[in-house]
Amino acid sequence: MALEPELVARFAGLVGPGNAVTDPDRLAPHLVEWRGLYRGRTSLMLQPETAAEVSAIMALAGRTRTAIVPQGGNTGLVGGQIPDGSGGQIILSLSRMDAIRNVDAAGGIITVEAGATLQAVQDTADAADRLFPLSLASQASAQIGGVLSTNAGGTTALAFGVARDLCLGLEVVLASGEILHGLRSLKKDNRGYDLRNLFIGAEGTLGIITAASLKLFPKPRGTATAFAGLASPARALELLTLAQSRLGASLTSFELSAALPFQFALRHMPALRDPFARSYPWYVLLEASSPVGAAQAQSALAAVLEDALAAELIGDAVPAASDAQARAFWAIREGMSEAQKHEGGSIKHDISLPLAAIPQFMDEAALAVQSVVPGARIACFGHLGDGNLHYNVSQPVGADKASFLARWADMNDAVHAVVSRHGGSFSAEHGIGVLKRDILARSLDPVALATMRSLKNLLDPLGILNPGKVL
Ligand SMILES: Cc1cc2nc3c(=O)[nH]c(=O)nc-3n(C[C@H](O)[C@H](O)[C@H](O)COP(=O)(O)OP(=O)(O)OC[C@H]3O[C@@H](n4cnc5c(N)ncnc54)[C@H](O)[C@@H]3O)c2cc1C
Repeated sequence: MALEPELVARFAGLVGPGNAVTDPDRLAPHLVEWRGLYRGRTSLMLQPETAAEVSAIMALAGRTRTAIVPQGGNTGLVGGQIPDGSGGQIILSLSRMDAIRNVDAAGGIITVEAGATLQAVQDTADAADRLFPLSLASQASAQIGGVLSTNAGGTTALAFGVARDLCLGLEVVLASGEILHGLRSLKKDNRGYDLRNLFIGAEGTLGIITAASLKLFPKPRGTATAFAGLASPARALELLTLAQSRLGASLTSFELSAALPFQFALRHMPALRDPFARSYPWYVLLEASSPVGAAQAQSALAAVLEDALAAELIGDAVPAASDAQARAFWAIREGMSEAQKHEGGSIKHDISLPLAAIPQFMDEAALAVQSVVPGARIACFGHLGDGNLHYNVSQPVGADKASFLARWADMNDAVHAVVSRHGGSFSAEHGIGVLKRDILARSLDPVALATMRSLKNLLDPLGILNPGKVL
Protein backbone atom coordinates (compact mmCIF):
# COMPACT_ATOMS: atom_id res chain seq x y z
CA MET A 1 0.00 0.00 0.00
CA ALA A 2 1.33 3.44 -0.97
CA LEU A 3 2.63 5.78 1.76
CA GLU A 4 0.03 8.17 3.16
CA PRO A 5 0.95 11.88 2.71
CA GLU A 6 0.68 12.39 6.47
CA LEU A 7 3.23 9.62 7.06
CA VAL A 8 5.55 11.06 4.41
CA ALA A 9 5.41 14.41 6.20
CA ARG A 10 6.23 12.83 9.58
CA PHE A 11 9.30 11.05 8.18
CA ALA A 12 10.34 14.12 6.20
CA GLY A 13 10.32 16.12 9.42
CA LEU A 14 13.11 13.91 10.81
CA VAL A 15 15.73 14.99 8.27
CA GLY A 16 16.85 18.49 7.34
CA PRO A 17 14.94 20.51 4.73
CA GLY A 18 15.59 19.23 1.21
CA ASN A 19 16.70 15.83 2.49
CA ALA A 20 13.38 14.09 2.02
CA VAL A 21 13.18 13.43 -1.72
CA THR A 22 9.67 13.12 -3.17
CA ASP A 23 10.30 14.39 -6.71
CA PRO A 24 9.67 11.41 -9.06
CA ASP A 25 12.52 12.47 -11.37
CA ARG A 26 15.01 12.49 -8.49
CA LEU A 27 13.64 9.20 -7.15
CA ALA A 28 13.75 7.41 -10.50
CA PRO A 29 17.48 6.46 -10.58
CA HIS A 30 17.12 4.95 -7.08
CA LEU A 31 14.27 2.68 -8.16
CA VAL A 32 16.12 0.57 -10.69
CA GLU A 33 19.30 -1.42 -10.25
CA TRP A 34 22.33 -1.55 -12.50
CA ARG A 35 21.18 -4.44 -14.67
CA GLY A 36 17.61 -3.20 -14.94
CA LEU A 37 16.39 -6.50 -13.45
CA TYR A 38 14.53 -4.98 -10.51
CA ARG A 39 12.31 -1.93 -10.52
CA GLY A 40 10.58 -0.65 -7.40
CA ARG A 41 8.16 2.08 -6.33
CA THR A 42 8.22 4.65 -3.57
CA SER A 43 7.26 8.26 -3.05
CA LEU A 44 9.96 8.96 -0.44
CA MET A 45 13.71 8.71 -0.07
CA LEU A 46 15.25 10.00 3.16
CA GLN A 47 18.82 11.29 3.21
CA PRO A 48 19.85 11.60 6.88
CA GLU A 49 23.09 13.25 7.91
CA THR A 50 23.74 11.64 11.29
CA ALA A 51 23.30 8.35 13.10
CA ALA A 52 20.90 10.18 15.42
CA GLU A 53 18.66 10.98 12.44
CA VAL A 54 18.83 7.35 11.27
CA SER A 55 17.89 6.33 14.80
CA ALA A 56 14.85 8.64 14.77
CA ILE A 57 13.80 7.24 11.38
CA MET A 58 13.97 3.64 12.64
CA ALA A 59 12.07 4.52 15.82
CA LEU A 60 9.25 6.08 13.78
CA ALA A 61 9.36 3.16 11.32
CA GLY A 62 8.80 0.81 14.26
CA ARG A 63 5.90 2.84 15.64
CA THR A 64 4.23 3.02 12.22
CA ARG A 65 5.29 -0.44 10.94
CA THR A 66 6.92 1.16 7.89
CA ALA A 67 9.46 -0.80 5.87
CA ILE A 68 12.87 0.81 5.37
CA VAL A 69 15.17 -0.12 2.48
CA PRO A 70 18.77 1.02 3.00
CA GLN A 71 20.55 2.12 -0.14
CA GLY A 72 24.19 2.98 -0.71
CA GLY A 73 25.65 3.48 -4.18
CA ASN A 74 22.95 1.31 -5.82
CA THR A 75 25.54 -0.91 -7.52
CA GLY A 76 24.36 -4.13 -5.85
CA LEU A 77 23.64 -6.93 -8.31
CA VAL A 78 20.94 -8.92 -6.50
CA GLY A 79 18.19 -6.31 -6.08
CA GLY A 80 18.68 -5.84 -2.31
CA GLN A 81 18.71 -2.03 -2.40
CA ILE A 82 15.50 -1.61 -4.43
CA PRO A 83 12.10 -1.23 -2.71
CA ASP A 84 9.32 -3.57 -3.75
CA GLY A 85 6.49 -2.61 -6.08
CA SER A 86 3.95 -1.75 -3.35
CA GLY A 87 4.96 1.89 -2.99
CA GLY A 88 4.81 1.41 0.78
CA GLN A 89 8.55 1.16 1.50
CA ILE A 90 10.90 4.10 2.15
CA ILE A 91 14.42 4.29 0.74
CA LEU A 92 17.01 5.30 3.34
CA SER A 93 19.97 6.69 1.42
CA LEU A 94 23.27 6.87 3.28
CA SER A 95 24.88 9.09 0.63
CA ARG A 96 25.06 12.24 2.74
CA MET A 97 26.80 10.42 5.59
CA ASP A 98 30.10 10.38 3.74
CA ALA A 99 32.56 11.88 6.24
CA ILE A 100 35.98 10.40 6.87
CA ARG A 101 35.95 10.56 10.66
CA ASN A 102 39.57 9.65 11.36
CA VAL A 103 42.72 8.34 9.70
CA ASP A 104 45.24 6.68 11.99
CA ALA A 105 48.04 5.91 9.55
CA ALA A 106 50.43 4.60 12.19
CA GLY A 107 47.78 2.38 13.77
CA GLY A 108 46.54 1.24 10.35
CA ILE A 109 42.90 2.22 10.89
CA ILE A 110 40.52 4.49 9.02
CA THR A 111 37.09 5.36 10.43
CA VAL A 112 34.50 6.41 7.87
CA GLU A 113 30.79 6.98 7.61
CA ALA A 114 28.72 4.48 5.64
CA GLY A 115 28.10 6.78 2.67
CA ALA A 116 31.79 7.32 1.86
CA THR A 117 32.51 5.74 -1.50
CA LEU A 118 35.05 2.97 -1.74
CA GLN A 119 37.04 5.22 -4.08
CA ALA A 120 37.09 8.03 -1.49
CA VAL A 121 38.34 5.63 1.18
CA GLN A 122 41.07 4.33 -1.13
CA ASP A 123 42.10 7.89 -2.05
CA THR A 124 42.17 9.02 1.59
CA ALA A 125 44.29 6.04 2.53
CA ASP A 126 46.62 6.75 -0.38
CA ALA A 127 47.03 10.38 0.69
CA ALA A 128 48.09 9.08 4.12
CA ASP A 129 50.63 6.76 2.43
CA ARG A 130 48.53 3.72 3.27
CA LEU A 131 46.55 1.17 1.27
CA PHE A 132 42.89 0.28 1.61
CA PRO A 133 43.01 -2.75 -0.65
CA LEU A 134 39.40 -3.61 -1.47
CA SER A 135 38.89 -2.96 -5.16
CA LEU A 136 35.74 -3.28 -7.32
CA ALA A 137 34.92 -2.04 -10.81
CA SER A 138 32.01 -0.20 -9.15
CA GLN A 139 34.13 1.57 -6.53
CA ALA A 140 33.45 5.12 -7.73
CA SER A 141 29.79 4.66 -6.67
CA ALA A 142 29.77 1.74 -4.21
CA GLN A 143 29.71 2.96 -0.61
CA ILE A 144 31.33 1.45 2.47
CA GLY A 145 27.93 0.67 4.02
CA GLY A 146 26.92 -1.23 0.88
CA VAL A 147 30.32 -2.88 0.50
CA LEU A 148 30.13 -4.22 4.08
CA SER A 149 26.44 -5.11 3.85
CA THR A 150 27.17 -7.27 0.80
CA ASN A 151 30.55 -8.47 2.11
CA ALA A 152 32.04 -7.54 -1.25
CA GLY A 153 35.10 -9.37 -2.57
CA GLY A 154 36.68 -7.95 -5.71
CA THR A 155 40.09 -8.28 -7.25
CA THR A 156 42.34 -8.11 -4.19
CA ALA A 157 40.60 -10.66 -1.96
CA LEU A 158 43.33 -13.13 -2.88
CA ALA A 159 45.88 -11.19 -0.85
CA PHE A 160 43.79 -9.15 1.59
CA GLY A 161 40.50 -11.00 2.02
CA VAL A 162 36.91 -9.84 1.51
CA ALA A 163 35.18 -6.82 3.11
CA ARG A 164 34.59 -8.78 6.31
CA ASP A 165 38.33 -9.34 6.75
CA LEU A 166 39.00 -5.61 6.46
CA CYS A 167 36.54 -4.38 9.08
CA LEU A 168 37.43 -3.87 12.75
CA GLY A 169 34.22 -2.36 14.02
CA LEU A 170 30.82 -0.93 13.13
CA GLU A 171 28.36 1.66 14.27
CA VAL A 172 24.89 0.28 13.55
CA VAL A 173 21.38 1.61 14.05
CA LEU A 174 19.13 -1.28 15.04
CA ALA A 175 15.51 -1.76 14.00
CA SER A 176 14.52 -0.44 17.45
CA GLY A 177 16.34 2.82 16.76
CA GLU A 178 19.04 2.04 19.34
CA ILE A 179 22.59 2.77 18.24
CA LEU A 180 25.14 0.00 18.63
CA HIS A 181 28.45 1.78 19.23
CA GLY A 182 30.92 -0.79 17.98
CA LEU A 183 33.53 1.35 16.26
CA ARG A 184 36.42 -0.58 17.75
CA SER A 185 39.96 -0.08 16.65
CA LEU A 186 41.43 -3.18 18.23
CA LYS A 187 42.86 -6.03 16.22
CA LYS A 188 42.41 -8.36 19.18
CA ASP A 189 39.18 -8.09 21.12
CA ASN A 190 37.32 -11.09 22.48
CA ARG A 191 34.64 -9.45 24.59
CA GLY A 192 31.78 -11.84 23.94
CA TYR A 193 30.01 -12.57 20.69
CA ASP A 194 31.21 -10.95 17.48
CA LEU A 195 28.20 -8.74 16.74
CA ARG A 196 29.98 -6.89 13.93
CA ASN A 197 30.02 -9.99 11.79
CA LEU A 198 26.24 -10.32 12.07
CA PHE A 199 25.73 -7.09 10.16
CA ILE A 200 28.44 -7.67 7.56
CA GLY A 201 26.82 -9.46 4.63
CA ALA A 202 23.31 -9.01 6.09
CA GLU A 203 22.24 -6.79 3.18
CA GLY A 204 20.44 -4.31 5.40
CA THR A 205 18.09 -6.88 6.94
CA LEU A 206 19.48 -6.75 10.50
CA GLY A 207 20.53 -3.13 11.00
CA ILE A 208 21.67 0.06 9.28
CA ILE A 209 25.43 0.48 9.19
CA THR A 210 26.22 4.15 9.76
CA ALA A 211 30.02 4.02 10.20
CA ALA A 212 32.89 1.56 10.11
CA SER A 213 36.48 1.30 11.24
CA LEU A 214 38.57 -0.40 8.60
CA LYS A 215 42.09 -1.79 8.32
CA LEU A 216 44.81 0.01 6.40
CA PHE A 217 47.98 -1.60 5.07
CA PRO A 218 51.42 -0.38 4.08
CA LYS A 219 51.27 1.01 0.57
CA PRO A 220 53.18 -1.04 -1.96
CA ARG A 221 56.08 0.89 -3.51
CA GLY A 222 55.51 -0.68 -6.88
CA THR A 223 53.33 -3.08 -8.80
CA ALA A 224 53.74 -5.16 -11.95
CA THR A 225 50.90 -6.28 -14.17
CA ALA A 226 50.82 -8.83 -16.98
CA PHE A 227 48.34 -10.66 -19.17
CA ALA A 228 48.97 -14.31 -20.00
CA GLY A 229 47.22 -16.28 -22.76
CA LEU A 230 46.69 -19.96 -22.09
CA ALA A 231 44.86 -23.11 -23.14
CA SER A 232 42.59 -24.08 -20.24
CA PRO A 233 41.44 -23.45 -16.66
CA ALA A 234 43.62 -26.41 -15.60
CA ARG A 235 46.69 -24.57 -16.92
CA ALA A 236 45.51 -21.42 -15.16
CA LEU A 237 45.41 -23.31 -11.86
CA GLU A 238 48.94 -24.58 -12.41
CA LEU A 239 50.00 -21.00 -13.12
CA LEU A 240 48.30 -19.89 -9.89
CA THR A 241 50.19 -22.50 -7.88
CA LEU A 242 53.48 -21.45 -9.47
CA ALA A 243 52.81 -17.73 -8.95
CA GLN A 244 51.74 -18.22 -5.33
CA SER A 245 54.75 -20.35 -4.49
CA ARG A 246 57.12 -17.75 -5.96
CA LEU A 247 55.40 -14.53 -5.00
CA GLY A 248 53.57 -15.46 -1.80
CA ALA A 249 51.52 -12.54 -0.46
CA SER A 250 52.95 -10.24 -3.16
CA LEU A 251 50.63 -11.89 -5.67
CA THR A 252 47.80 -9.39 -5.24
CA SER A 253 45.48 -10.35 -8.12
CA PHE A 254 44.90 -13.37 -10.32
CA GLU A 255 41.94 -12.87 -12.63
CA LEU A 256 40.78 -15.48 -15.12
CA SER A 257 38.79 -14.83 -18.27
CA ALA A 258 37.55 -17.01 -21.08
CA ALA A 259 38.16 -15.66 -24.58
CA LEU A 260 34.57 -14.46 -25.01
CA PRO A 261 34.32 -11.78 -22.27
CA PHE A 262 37.85 -10.66 -23.22
CA GLN A 263 36.68 -10.19 -26.82
CA PHE A 264 33.41 -8.55 -25.69
CA ALA A 265 35.42 -5.92 -23.77
CA LEU A 266 37.65 -5.20 -26.77
CA ARG A 267 34.67 -5.10 -29.15
CA HIS A 268 32.59 -2.69 -27.10
CA MET A 269 35.32 -0.47 -25.68
CA PRO A 270 37.06 0.77 -28.82
CA ALA A 271 39.80 2.60 -26.90
CA LEU A 272 41.17 -0.76 -25.69
CA ARG A 273 43.71 -2.79 -27.65
CA ASP A 274 44.30 -6.54 -27.68
CA PRO A 275 47.73 -7.04 -26.08
CA PHE A 276 48.26 -10.31 -27.96
CA ALA A 277 49.17 -11.02 -31.58
CA ARG A 278 46.89 -14.09 -31.61
CA SER A 279 43.92 -15.21 -29.58
CA TYR A 280 43.90 -17.76 -26.74
CA PRO A 281 41.03 -19.77 -25.26
CA TRP A 282 41.70 -18.31 -21.80
CA TYR A 283 43.49 -15.33 -20.28
CA VAL A 284 44.87 -14.52 -16.84
CA LEU A 285 45.58 -11.02 -15.56
CA LEU A 286 48.23 -11.12 -12.83
CA GLU A 287 49.35 -8.36 -10.52
CA ALA A 288 52.32 -8.50 -8.16
CA SER A 289 53.13 -5.84 -5.56
CA SER A 290 56.40 -5.00 -3.88
CA PRO A 291 57.25 -3.10 -0.69
CA VAL A 292 60.52 -2.07 -2.40
CA GLY A 293 59.61 -0.79 -5.84
CA ALA A 294 58.21 -1.47 -9.29
CA ALA A 295 61.48 -2.92 -10.59
CA GLN A 296 61.41 -5.65 -7.96
CA ALA A 297 57.75 -6.47 -8.66
CA GLN A 298 58.44 -6.58 -12.40
CA SER A 299 61.46 -8.86 -12.15
CA ALA A 300 59.65 -11.23 -9.75
CA LEU A 301 56.62 -11.44 -12.03
CA ALA A 302 58.78 -11.79 -15.15
CA ALA A 303 60.62 -14.73 -13.58
CA VAL A 304 57.29 -16.48 -12.88
CA LEU A 305 56.11 -15.92 -16.44
CA GLU A 306 59.38 -17.12 -17.97
CA ASP A 307 59.14 -20.36 -16.01
CA ALA A 308 55.48 -20.70 -16.95
CA LEU A 309 56.38 -20.30 -20.64
CA ALA A 310 59.20 -22.83 -20.33
CA ALA A 311 56.83 -25.31 -18.64
CA GLU A 312 54.24 -24.61 -21.38
CA LEU A 313 51.64 -23.54 -18.83
CA ILE A 314 51.02 -20.44 -20.92
CA GLY A 315 51.25 -19.70 -24.63
CA ASP A 316 52.35 -16.09 -24.26
CA ALA A 317 52.61 -13.32 -21.67
CA VAL A 318 52.59 -9.56 -22.08
CA PRO A 319 53.92 -7.53 -19.14
CA ALA A 320 52.56 -3.99 -18.93
CA ALA A 321 55.37 -1.67 -20.04
CA SER A 322 53.98 1.40 -18.26
CA ASP A 323 51.38 2.45 -15.70
CA ALA A 324 49.14 3.49 -18.60
CA GLN A 325 49.36 0.01 -20.12
CA ALA A 326 48.67 -1.59 -16.74
CA ARG A 327 45.54 0.58 -16.45
CA ALA A 328 44.53 -0.46 -19.97
CA PHE A 329 44.90 -4.14 -19.00
CA TRP A 330 42.69 -3.57 -15.97
CA ALA A 331 40.19 -1.67 -18.13
CA ILE A 332 39.77 -4.83 -20.24
CA ARG A 333 39.08 -6.86 -17.11
CA GLU A 334 36.82 -4.28 -15.51
CA GLY A 335 34.93 -3.64 -18.75
CA MET A 336 33.76 -7.25 -19.03
CA SER A 337 30.51 -6.79 -17.05
CA GLU A 338 29.50 -3.67 -18.97
CA ALA A 339 30.49 -5.14 -22.35
CA GLN A 340 28.13 -8.09 -21.88
CA LYS A 341 25.19 -5.70 -21.82
CA HIS A 342 25.87 -4.98 -25.51
CA GLU A 343 25.64 -8.66 -26.40
CA GLY A 344 21.96 -8.99 -25.48
CA GLY A 345 20.56 -10.89 -22.51
CA SER A 346 22.97 -12.31 -19.96
CA ILE A 347 22.07 -14.82 -17.27
CA LYS A 348 24.41 -14.49 -14.28
CA HIS A 349 25.95 -16.92 -11.84
CA ASP A 350 28.20 -15.60 -9.06
CA ILE A 351 29.64 -18.88 -7.84
CA SER A 352 32.61 -20.21 -5.93
CA LEU A 353 34.18 -23.63 -6.07
CA PRO A 354 37.04 -25.54 -4.52
CA LEU A 355 39.96 -24.68 -6.82
CA ALA A 356 40.67 -28.28 -7.77
CA ALA A 357 37.09 -28.77 -8.98
CA ILE A 358 37.13 -25.87 -11.45
CA PRO A 359 38.36 -27.65 -14.62
CA GLN A 360 35.76 -30.40 -14.31
CA PHE A 361 33.08 -27.90 -13.37
CA MET A 362 33.79 -26.00 -16.59
CA ASP A 363 33.29 -29.10 -18.73
CA GLU A 364 30.10 -30.19 -16.99
CA ALA A 365 28.58 -26.70 -16.73
CA ALA A 366 29.14 -26.09 -20.46
CA LEU A 367 27.04 -29.18 -21.22
CA ALA A 368 24.39 -28.08 -18.71
CA VAL A 369 24.14 -24.64 -20.35
CA GLN A 370 23.72 -26.12 -23.83
CA SER A 371 21.02 -28.46 -22.58
CA VAL A 372 18.94 -25.46 -21.44
CA VAL A 373 19.57 -23.06 -24.35
CA PRO A 374 21.50 -24.53 -27.29
CA GLY A 375 23.83 -21.93 -28.74
CA ALA A 376 24.03 -19.87 -25.54
CA ARG A 377 27.47 -18.28 -25.16
CA ILE A 378 29.41 -18.77 -21.93
CA ALA A 379 31.16 -15.57 -20.87
CA CYS A 380 32.98 -16.74 -17.78
CA PHE A 381 35.50 -14.61 -15.91
CA GLY A 382 36.35 -14.05 -12.29
CA HIS A 383 38.67 -14.07 -9.35
CA LEU A 384 40.28 -17.47 -9.86
CA GLY A 385 42.58 -17.08 -6.89
CA ASP A 386 39.47 -17.12 -4.66
CA GLY A 387 37.71 -19.86 -6.64
CA ASN A 388 35.08 -17.22 -7.53
CA LEU A 389 33.71 -17.26 -11.07
CA HIS A 390 31.20 -14.97 -12.74
CA TYR A 391 29.80 -17.75 -14.86
CA ASN A 392 27.67 -15.57 -17.10
CA VAL A 393 25.74 -16.87 -20.07
CA SER A 394 24.98 -14.57 -23.00
CA GLN A 395 22.10 -15.22 -25.36
CA PRO A 396 22.76 -17.00 -28.67
CA VAL A 397 23.61 -14.56 -31.47
CA GLY A 398 20.40 -13.21 -32.96
CA ALA A 399 18.14 -14.75 -30.28
CA ASP A 400 15.23 -12.89 -28.73
CA LYS A 401 16.41 -11.28 -25.48
CA ALA A 402 13.14 -11.64 -23.58
CA SER A 403 12.73 -15.33 -24.45
CA PHE A 404 16.31 -16.00 -23.46
CA LEU A 405 15.95 -14.19 -20.11
CA ALA A 406 12.75 -16.13 -19.47
CA ARG A 407 15.00 -19.18 -19.04
CA TRP A 408 16.88 -17.50 -16.14
CA ALA A 409 15.62 -19.87 -13.43
CA ASP A 410 16.13 -23.01 -15.56
CA MET A 411 19.65 -21.93 -16.44
CA ASN A 412 20.42 -21.15 -12.78
CA ASP A 413 19.10 -24.53 -11.70
CA ALA A 414 21.20 -26.36 -14.27
CA VAL A 415 24.43 -24.50 -13.44
CA HIS A 416 23.88 -24.49 -9.67
CA ALA A 417 23.29 -28.25 -9.73
CA VAL A 418 26.82 -28.66 -11.12
CA VAL A 419 28.16 -26.17 -8.56
CA SER A 420 26.50 -28.11 -5.76
CA ARG A 421 27.86 -31.46 -7.00
CA HIS A 422 31.34 -30.01 -6.66
CA GLY A 423 30.80 -28.60 -3.17
CA GLY A 424 30.57 -24.96 -4.30
CA SER A 425 28.41 -21.94 -3.43
CA PHE A 426 25.72 -20.27 -5.57
CA SER A 427 26.46 -16.91 -3.93
CA ALA A 428 30.14 -16.02 -3.75
CA GLU A 429 30.36 -12.25 -3.41
CA HIS A 430 27.21 -10.49 -4.62
CA GLY A 431 24.85 -11.67 -1.90
CA ILE A 432 21.30 -12.98 -1.91
CA GLY A 433 18.97 -9.96 -2.16
CA VAL A 434 15.83 -10.90 -4.05
CA LEU A 435 17.60 -12.66 -6.90
CA LYS A 436 18.74 -15.67 -4.88
CA ARG A 437 16.30 -15.62 -1.97
CA ASP A 438 14.31 -18.61 -3.16
CA ILE A 439 17.44 -20.57 -4.00
CA LEU A 440 18.72 -19.92 -0.46
CA ALA A 441 15.41 -21.06 1.03
CA ARG A 442 15.41 -24.37 -0.81
CA SER A 443 19.09 -25.23 -0.73
CA LEU A 444 20.62 -24.04 2.54
CA ASP A 445 21.04 -26.43 5.43
CA PRO A 446 17.68 -26.25 7.31
CA VAL A 447 19.39 -25.65 10.65
CA ALA A 448 21.39 -22.76 9.19
CA LEU A 449 18.23 -21.30 7.67
CA ALA A 450 16.27 -21.62 10.92
CA THR A 451 19.12 -19.95 12.83
CA MET A 452 19.12 -17.08 10.33
CA ARG A 453 15.35 -16.68 10.73
CA SER A 454 15.72 -16.63 14.53
CA LEU A 455 18.35 -13.91 14.28
CA LYS A 456 16.14 -11.88 11.98
CA ASN A 457 13.19 -12.19 14.38
CA LEU A 458 15.37 -11.22 17.31
CA LEU A 459 16.87 -8.13 15.70
CA ASP A 460 13.90 -7.06 13.60
CA PRO A 461 10.76 -8.48 15.26
CA LEU A 462 8.45 -6.16 13.31
CA GLY A 463 10.03 -7.01 9.96
CA ILE A 464 10.68 -3.39 9.00
CA LEU A 465 14.31 -3.72 7.83
CA ASN A 466 14.55 -4.46 4.12
CA PRO A 467 11.70 -7.01 4.18
CA GLY A 468 11.63 -9.61 1.42
CA LYS A 469 15.41 -9.59 1.02
CA VAL A 470 17.68 -12.55 1.85
CA LEU A 471 15.05 -14.57 3.76
C1 LIG B 1 30.36 -2.98 -12.69
C2 LIG B 1 30.20 -3.65 -11.36
C3 LIG B 1 31.23 -4.43 -10.86
C4 LIG B 1 31.11 -5.07 -9.62
N1 LIG B 1 32.15 -5.81 -9.17
C5 LIG B 1 32.04 -6.44 -7.98
C6 LIG B 1 33.13 -7.25 -7.50
O1 LIG B 1 34.16 -7.43 -8.14
N2 LIG B 1 32.97 -7.84 -6.30
C7 LIG B 1 31.83 -7.69 -5.54
O2 LIG B 1 31.77 -8.24 -4.45
N3 LIG B 1 30.81 -6.93 -5.99
C8 LIG B 1 30.88 -6.31 -7.18
N4 LIG B 1 29.83 -5.56 -7.64
C9 LIG B 1 28.60 -5.47 -6.84
C10 LIG B 1 28.48 -4.19 -5.98
O3 LIG B 1 29.29 -3.16 -6.44
C11 LIG B 1 28.80 -4.50 -4.56
O4 LIG B 1 27.84 -5.39 -4.07
C12 LIG B 1 28.84 -3.27 -3.63
O5 LIG B 1 29.38 -3.72 -2.42
C13 LIG B 1 27.49 -2.64 -3.35
O6 LIG B 1 27.68 -1.37 -2.72
P1 LIG B 1 26.59 -0.21 -2.82
O7 LIG B 1 27.00 0.92 -1.96
O8 LIG B 1 26.32 0.13 -4.24
O9 LIG B 1 25.33 -0.93 -2.19
P2 LIG B 1 23.80 -0.94 -2.65
O10 LIG B 1 23.71 -1.54 -4.01
O11 LIG B 1 23.21 0.39 -2.49
O12 LIG B 1 23.19 -1.93 -1.58
C14 LIG B 1 23.55 -3.28 -1.54
C15 LIG B 1 22.88 -3.96 -0.33
O13 LIG B 1 23.37 -3.42 0.88
C16 LIG B 1 22.32 -2.80 1.63
N5 LIG B 1 22.90 -1.57 2.19
C17 LIG B 1 23.49 -0.55 1.53
N6 LIG B 1 23.98 0.34 2.40
C18 LIG B 1 23.69 -0.12 3.65
C19 LIG B 1 23.95 0.34 4.96
N7 LIG B 1 24.61 1.48 5.17
N8 LIG B 1 23.50 -0.39 6.01
C20 LIG B 1 22.83 -1.55 5.80
N9 LIG B 1 22.56 -2.04 4.58
C21 LIG B 1 22.99 -1.33 3.51
C22 LIG B 1 21.20 -2.57 0.64
O14 LIG B 1 19.93 -2.57 1.27
C23 LIG B 1 21.38 -3.76 -0.29
O15 LIG B 1 20.77 -4.89 0.27
C24 LIG B 1 29.92 -4.92 -8.88
C25 LIG B 1 28.89 -4.14 -9.38
C26 LIG B 1 29.01 -3.51 -10.60
C27 LIG B 1 27.88 -2.65 -11.08
